[in-house]
Amino acid sequence: MFSINKILRENIKKLVPYSSARDEFKGEASVFLDANENAFGSPLEQQYNRYPDPLQYKVKKRLSDIKGVPPRNIFLGNGSDEAIDVLFRSFCNPGVDNVILVPPTYGMYEVSANINDIKINKVPLTEEYQLNLEGIAEAINDHTKMIFICSPNNPTGNSINRDDIETLLANFSGLVVIDEAYINFSRQKTFIQELTEYANLVVLQTLSKAWGLAGLRVGMAFASEEIIEVMNKVKPPYNINEASQELALKALQNVDQVNGWIKEILLQRDRLVLTLKDFDFVLDIYPSDANFILVKTTDPKGIYNFLVDKGIIVRDRSKVDLCEGCLRITVGTPAENDILLQTLQNYK
Ligand code: PMP
Repeated sequence: MFSINKILRENIKKLVPYSSARDEFKGEASVFLDANENAFGSPLEQQYNRYPDPLQYKVKKRLSDIKGVPPRNIFLGNGSDEAIDVLFRSFCNPGVDNVILVPPTYGMYEVSANINDIKINKVPLTEEYQLNLEGIAEAINDHTKMIFICSPNNPTGNSINRDDIETLLANFSGLVVIDEAYINFSRQKTFIQELTEYANLVVLQTLSKAWGLAGLRVGMAFASEEIIEVMNKVKPPYNINEASQELALKALQNVDQVNGWIKEILLQRDRLVLTLKDFDFVLDIYPSDANFILVKTTDPKGIYNFLVDKGIIVRDRSKVDLCEGCLRITVGTPAENDILLQTLQNYK
């Protein structure tokens, strides 16, 4: 059975988080001389002389309306990369605890584990890029705090079977972190609606992909109130800057525009698959639920270098286990995809 007290680090249980005078003060005031800001203003049209809301209430309220999850179940990070790091710092004891990773998958889980000196137990995906549940069960020990599942998975593009994830959620006594960075491109349902069902569920999403805001650095974690409280304690106090909060709030009004792009990206994804599969050097294209495709080729290095020469950059994943020969190609605009496909006509 999952219990947050069993997995929380002792130092975090005792931690007194940073608090500002403005957190403590609940009334009305017009003169703020508490935070050593420059009260005269900023050398910009927009005023950024005041610290931002540490708990980003307005952005969370808007996200809450879109996602159907109360603000108290939402954590915001400086990208979901920060949420990943905060999870490690909240729940994993350096040099003692371990996490389970299921490669090939998003590289930051491993980097973040290494930065935090957390051991990694790798249980590779099957040939079908699905979970090896038996292998995971064997790899879990008393010090296993988290399992990271990326669905749709980067770099393979496929979604992970929902039943398998639910099996983990029901049986693992640590956190199951489901990274849904690419969920908007998927036919699969998000796990956000399962938060009331599973106390050990953490869902990661981001504004960097479908929302087109990678430059703002805003990522989300959805979890129980208890987990979110811990994450808020551990994060740097002002982790989302004022400009990002304002712009995210503004962008989050444009749901229709984003849905339009998603439709177009899915059409362009189909078009790339249909055209690429006829090239001689393409051996396989894996079914994608994301805004990229994994393409197995006869000569990944050669194609990669040929494209770089023409100013086109794709991601060479051919050295990654289970992705031998593969390039990962992001779906671009119709014009960018034209350039890619026309250029590849001239390869060999
Ligand atoms: N998760 C996955 C699966 C990703 O591919 C990425 C970015 N490539 C991230 C998280 C990080 O997203 P963010 O920009 O929100 O830090």
